[in-house]
Amino acid sequence: MSVTVDLSGKTALVMGVANARSLGWAIAEQLLAAGCQVGFSYQGERLKPELDKLLVGREGVWSQQADATVEEDLTSLFGRVKEEFGHLDYLVHSIAFAPRSAMEGRFVDTTPEDWNTALTVSAYTLVSTARHAEPLLRSGGSIISLTYHASQKVVPKYNVMGVAKAALEAATRYLAAELGGAGIRVNTVSAGPMRTIAARSIPGFGTMYEKAAASAPLGRNATPEEVGKLSLFLLSDLGSGVTGQTVYVDAGSSIMSMKLD
Ligand code: NAD
Repeated sequence: MSVTVDLSGKTALVMGVANARSLGWAIAEQLLAAGCQVGFSYQGERLKPELDKLLVGREGVWSQQADATVEEDLTSLFGRVKEEFGHLDYLVHSIAFAPRSAMEGRFVDTTPEDWNTALTVSAYTLVSTARHAEPLLRSGGSIISLTYHASQKVVPKYNVMGVAKAALEAATRYLAAELGGAGIRVNTVSAGPMRTIAARSIPGFGTMYEKAAASAPLGRNATPEEVGKLSLFLLSDLGSGVTGQTVYVDAGSSIMSMKLD
């Protein structure tokens, strides 16, 4: 049996596409293929040319600069969403950052500045963007973000980003509890390691990528396309009974404590 998702007439905002490898782009591709109208936000003007390359020739798309930590940028961005779409059905938060210094050293040495940066950019912005989106979201609306298993188990060098992902997952539950009454769902997609710009800033990522694939029940890593497909499920009516959850798409690697062969 094949399931076709038709999102014509639906609208989405995708935040955090830096280039074609971004998980936000893998999600946007699924939304666009399903006929959804999609707006994009990018952190700074230096990222615009890469996004423009991806959007060229596509209808019903637009983009605007917005640093998710800057309140005025969010006000302006969601003003644009209202102007372009009138309302919003889906919000995709695909944003994270921790200074490299916080991931190179020991976790015990994390500075307050690095802690605040990582948690503000990677977790608090889910709360602030949900707040801006709330008046535009209708019943049936859905919010997703991207997380990683280092929130639950220690992954060497992930350090403060593991704490930020734990905060993101907890924030997902609190938002889901509050917005559920209005028929709005909030979930987070826990992706296995994928080769993106953000991943490049994690020391030893290449080794981590290979080890995750070797230990995964499926004998490989999940793909960005698979992240996109799970996201489509969670955003659309297919996921209508799912909220407040951290849902894994990692070829099963998170269930393993060790592999003997
Ligand atoms: P990416 O570098 O392509 O995307 C990260 C995005 O965050 C970039 O577009 C960047 O501009 C944006 N960003 C950072 N600070 C911002 C700010 N202040 N305001 C607005 N945007 C900001 O990398 P990615 O791997 O696609 O990351 C997307 C999400 O997926 C992140 O939450 C990341 O932690 C998560 N994730 C990635 C992996 C992986 O292995 N790549 C695994 C699990 C989860």
